[in-house]
Amino acid sequence: MSKPTIAFLGLGIMGGGMAHRLLGAGFPLAVYNRNPDKAQPLAAAGAKVAASPREAAAGADLIISMVADDLAARAVWLGENGALAGAKPGAVIIECSTVSPDWAKELSAATAKKNCLMLEAPVTGTKPHAAAGELIFLVGGAAEVLEKVRPVLAVMSKAILHVGPIGSGALVKLLNNFLCAVQAVSWAEALALIEKSGINKALTVDFLLQNNPGSPLVKTMNTRMTVRDYTPNFAMRLMAKDLTYSIAAAKQYGVELATVATALEVMKKAIAQNYGEKDFSSVVEILRK
Ligand code: NAP
Repeated sequence: MSKPTIAFLGLGIMGGGMAHRLLGAGFPLAVYNRNPDKAQPLAAAGAKVAASPREAAAGADLIISMVADDLAARAVWLGENGALAGAKPGAVIIECSTVSPDWAKELSAATAKKNCLMLEAPVTGTKPHAAAGELIFLVGGAAEVLEKVRPVLAVMSKAILHVGPIGSGALVKLLNNFLCAVQAVSWAEALALIEKSGINKALTVDFLLQNNPGSPLVKTMNTRMTVRDYTPNFAMRLMAKDLTYSIAAAKQYGVELATVATALEVMKKAIAQNYGEKDFSSVVEILRK
């Protein structure tokens, strides 16, 4: 596929950066966002702005969604004004949002009915990685479909991992996020305890970070929690959503995610105290109080 026409649905923190990368690489691009204001920077850069997902999808070779959750994905793909209603037969649809494996499978079935092809391609990396084309795609779906769209995904990423059939991309992404969330909450508890106990903070934090507990995630969390800048790279409400999906997905295999359930409870408390729109590292603030 050389320079296919692309429709991009969802121009939030991640989608905005990804769509800019595609435009910068010269792909003809139509964009849709529920709140049309977020489409303005892309319109100024040359994208066509559509009034509905259906309008954006009309004539596109490839349709990409990067929205909040299952509910949002359902809203942009299905229904009278959804992208599937406008998709041409043979179009490739790519669900990049972090969704449940169940939704990925349901969307795959709806896609097949429209004679379209589907991949799920959730990502790791956050706002700066999306803007710089340095995401990692966790692709689920048929290898031959991935090969068709690899040049497009390459513009937005530093790596593309084909992890298995539809549903496995979502599961790998949820594993990634619940492991991050549990570490973040655990580090928040450690920091609160260090600060309240009056032990030597600089020495203790340095010791912990330089030894086994100092994972890349914990180091990033420590920086954000120390400077207390919670401008969202990844909003707490979205992390809580991922933990909820993780627990439900694991339950289907008879696996209980007890540490994830605890991390979710802590994050729910933070969301109740108005930290939902802030970066998930802000969870430390409810423990500092
Ligand atoms: P975000 O900035 O909150 O953007 C969410 C997007 O979803 C917006 O375009 C929003 O539209 C749209 N949306 C929400 N509900 C909708 C609905 N009912 N109908 C139509 N559109 C709806 O979130 P983000 O950080 O870009 O995350 C997007 C996805 O990527 C999520 O699944 C997230 O879990 C995943 N993710 C995020 C990160 C990260 O670090 N931020 C990293 C990896 C993966 P409006 O603008 O109209 O609200």
